[in-house]
Amino acid sequence: MFNARCPECNNDVEVINGRCSKCNFDISNYMAINGLCEGNQLITDKVFICPNCGDIEASTGRLYLKCSECGHPYKATDIDRKNPIKLFNTDEKQLIEEYVGDTINWDIYNARQEEWSNIQEKRHEYQQQKQAEENARQDAINHPKCPKCGSTAITSGQRGYSFFTGFLGSNKTVNRCANCGHTWKPGK
Ligand SMILES: [Zn+2]
Ligand SMILES: [Zn+2]
Ligand SMILES: [Zn+2]
Repeated sequence: MFNARCPECNNDVEVINGRCSKCNFDISNYMAINGLCEGNQLITDKVFICPNCGDIEASTGRLYLKCSECGHPYKATDIDRKNPIKLFNTDEKQLIEEYVGDTINWDIYNARQEEWSNIQEKRHEYQQQKQAEENARQDAINHPKCPKCGSTAITSGQRGYSFFTGFLGSNKTVNRCANCGHTWKPGK
């Protein structure tokens, strides 16, 4: 018994006696006709690769039998899922060449790479924008400007000190503009 995404009903199921626990699809037969077996032993411990688009499937919790990208049945490699050192040590295109070089459609592969790098680029732009906003916010806190005249010659002090209000008792920080004399509470 093992866990798999059923290629027929697309549910995450248990494979019991070779069949989907939900829809009873004959998963062992599906694996056999797609070459995902050795003798009469189903291959569940090797990394899979899509012969059509080159997608590499190395999950350890559950077996995906058809490509999540293009729907084509996966093919087995000789790479151990539990110890896929080769995946990390080998260039992806080289792996594809080695295992599915005769069937891979490089157009699909390249389109997906491009889509992926576009997503990465958008994410990067978004992060930069967020960082710029955060920097501006920090800058406003660290270098307050007078809301009246825009001067950055600001001094901060505790309200209650006589040079601000002549009033002792309250204990709130206030900013004072050295240019125009305006006073205000920080954050306003
Ligand atoms: Zn099923
Ligand atoms: Zn695929
Ligand atoms: Zn001012």
